[in-house]
Amino acid sequence: MSQVTPDPEAGPSGLPTGDLPASGPVTTDRATPSSALAIGAHPDDIEFGCGATLAKWAAAGCRVHHLVLTDGSKGTWDPSADLADLVARRADECRAAAATLTGPGTPDTPARRDDRVQFLDRVDGALENGAAERRAVVEIIRTLRPAAILGHDPWRRYRLHPDHRAAGFLTVDALVAARDPHFFPDLGLVPHRPDALLLFEADEANHVEDAGGFAETKIEALLCHASQWQSTMGIETTGVSGNDDPMVAFGEKVRRQLASHGRLAGLRYGEAFHVMDDL
Ligand SMILES: [Zn+2]
Repeated sequence: MSQVTPDPEAGPSGLPTGDLPASGPVTTDRATPSSALAIGAHPDDIEFGCGATLAKWAAAGCRVHHLVLTDGSKGTWDPSADLADLVARRADECRAAAATLTGPGTPDTPARRDDRVQFLDRVDGALENGAAERRAVVEIIRTLRPAAILGHDPWRRYRLHPDHRAAGFLTVDALVAARDPHFFPDLGLVPHRPDALLLFEADEANHVEDAGGFAETKIEALLCHASQWQSTMGIETTGVSGNDDPMVAFGEKVRRQLASHGRLAGLRYGEAFHVMDDL
């Protein structure tokens, strides 16, 4: 089977670098939420989708949590890879990336404390939005009680990856269930209604968070996912150096994407979302 050469103009994670569709007026920069829960299908999706926003919010005092839904066990091109090893490595990469975004933590909130990054451990490629998954995500939402939830836009058109669709619908459906008392009362947890839902990979962006000053943090966090350098990020590290350094090229690709999102709102760099705050 021949390998597909990554399109140099394609965005990381398949996101477009061209102008994004906006459905109308685009708002910018919400007030920093007191806490945020970002939900991603795979171990690197949160950093691709909203890494700069999380870094900015954390720097302003927001308590940031990550929930990764699958184990990332399909994330290699090596057919003989030890998948248990890969899963453990990717979990460590997630924790390192989260610590990069949110800083070293304080004595009360050490960056590597378990509830900063949680894993649902569903099999990569087989994520479902079933009752068991919704119950697990509701339990996390009602426990953490985030002011803002961030996740994949389930309504983005022509997206191939099933986990991104399932993750988006799971996030939206769990938000509804977490807020209403007759869903999963056996959890014994008080319902919780967040103030805002920010959907990345937005089909129609209506909001841009200014990413100025946080582009390099986003890139640094993405590069924590070293197991994905070759397969997702197009970074080949053997036999190259200097201006041809593929890590430099990857950074440029991320900056181009931030610039394309920023253009929606007249910003140098931004991260675009479809925001819903009537929840
Ligand atoms: Zn993904």
